[in-house]
Amino acid sequence: MDTRQRIENLRKRIGVIGGGIAGASAAYHLLKADNSLDIILVEAEDQLGYHTTGRSAALLLENDGTQSTRSIVKASVDFLLNPPEGLTENVFVIPRDVMHIATVEQSASVDRLLEENSSGRIPTKEISKSEAKKRFPALREEGLDRVVVDEGAGDIDVHCLHQAYLNYFRKNGGKIKTSTRIDSATKSGNSWSLETKTEEISVDVIVNAAGAWGDQVASRAGVEPIGLQPKRRTAFTVNSNEPDLQEWGMIADIDLRFYCKPDGKQLLCSLAEENPSEPCDAKHDEADVALAIERINAATTLDIRSVQTAWTGLRTFAPDRSMVIGSDSDDHSFFWCVGQGGTGIMTSPGVGRLLADLLTEGKPSEHFEKTGLKHKDVSPDRFRKK
Ligand SMILES: Cc1cc2nc3c(=O)[nH]c(=O)nc-3n(C[C@H](O)[C@H](O)[C@H](O)COP(=O)(O)OP(=O)(O)OC[C@H]3O[C@@H](n4cnc5c(N)ncnc54)[C@H](O)[C@@H]3O)c2cc1C
Repeated sequence: MDTRQRIENLRKRIGVIGGGIAGASAAYHLLKADNSLDIILVEAEDQLGYHTTGRSAALLLENDGTQSTRSIVKASVDFLLNPPEGLTENVFVIPRDVMHIATVEQSASVDRLLEENSSGRIPTKEISKSEAKKRFPALREEGLDRVVVDEGAGDIDVHCLHQAYLNYFRKNGGKIKTSTRIDSATKSGNSWSLETKTEEISVDVIVNAAGAWGDQVASRAGVEPIGLQPKRRTAFTVNSNEPDLQEWGMIADIDLRFYCKPDGKQLLCSLAEENPSEPCDAKHDEADVALAIERINAATTLDIRSVQTAWTGLRTFAPDRSMVIGSDSDDHSFFWCVGQGGTGIMTSPGVGRLLADLLTEGKPSEHFEKTGLKHKDVSPDRFRKK
C-alpha cells in the first residue's frame, strides 16, 4: 500500500464486520493506533462473541500451528501475560501445563513434536510417566508410553479479554451495532455502503472479521473469496469431585484424538475433531461426545458417565492453515482479518496489532521484528494470481 493510500485510510470511516475476538481486537488496536479514527463494529447476532469466540477451549499454547501462527502468538504473549496498564483489573492468563500423551504406537509422533517444538520460547520437553501422573493424577499408566509437556501454556479468560477490547473501544468513541447483519456491500466512488435489512451504513474501509462467514462477506462485497473452510470442533464439560482439580494440567492425545483439562470445578473435554461445515450456528452431535468419552475413559480413571454441557464451534482455516490478514490487492479498502483456525483467542493481540499496523502504516511495525513474522505468509496476496 502506498503512502497516499495509507493517509487516506487514516482519514476514513472504518467498518469492522464481526464482533468476535478478531473484530474486537482489530477495533481496539485501530483506536489504540489512532484515537481519531471513526470506527463502527457491526455484529449480526444480538450478543458479541456468540459464535466461535464463545465456544473455545481458551488455551494459550505457544508451540502450535504454522510458523506464521507461532510468530503471531509470540507477538501476543506479552500482551496476554502483562496487559497494558488500565486495560483490565484481572489477569488474562492462568498457567497450565499441557501434556501430550502417547502409546507405544505413537512414539514417532512424540519425536516429531519434540523436533517441531525445539525452538519455541519454552521448548516442549519429555517427562516421565510418574511425573505426568503427578500433574494429572487420573492418568492411566497402563498403555501409556511417553509424555511430553508444554510448560509455557495457560488458560485464557476469554470473556475478560474480549470485554477488555470492547470496553476500551466503547470508552474511546468506538460505535458498536449488534443484531445487524451486513447482507451486502457496494462500492461507490471511494466509499462502501454496508447494506442491512433496515439501513445502509456508509464507510470507507471494510475490515472483514466475520470468522466462518469471511468468504461470504467478501463475495457479497464483490471481492474474490479466499477458499476459507470452517471446521467443526465439539467440546463438553463434566463434573468432578477432585478437590485440587485446578492444580491439574491438561492432557491431550499426541495425535489430537481427544483432550481434557480443568475448567473451574469441571473438566472441559473435546474430541478435537475437524469436520468441514458450512458457516452456521453449529450444534453438537452426540456421537462425537460419546467417542470423546470413550477415548478419555480409556486413557484415564475419570470414568466419565454424564455430561453437563456440550457445544460445537467452527474453527475456520485458509487452504494453507495460516491466517489471512491485510488488504485485498483488488481493492485496498477491503481488509481481511480471518482464518484464525484454532488459535484465534491466543493470537488476538498480535492479529489486531498487525491489522492496525497494516491499515495505518502500510506495514508491520517493529513489534513484529523479533517474532520472525513475514507478512507475505499471512497476506491475502498469496491466494491471488500473480
Ligand atoms: C472447541 C473449540 C476450541 C478452541 N480452542 C481454542 C484455544 O484453546 N485457543 C485459541 O486461541 N483458540 C481456540 N479456538 C479457536 C477460536 O475460538 C477462534 O479462532 C476464534 O474465536 C475466532 O474468532 P473470530 O472473531 O474470527 O470468529 P467469531 O467469534 O465466529 O466471530 C465472527 C463474528 O462475525 C459475525 N458475522 C458473520 N457474518 C456477519 C455479517 N454478515 N454481518 C455482521 N456480522 C457477521 C458472526 O456473527 C460472528 O459473531 C477454539 C475453537 C473451538 C470451536
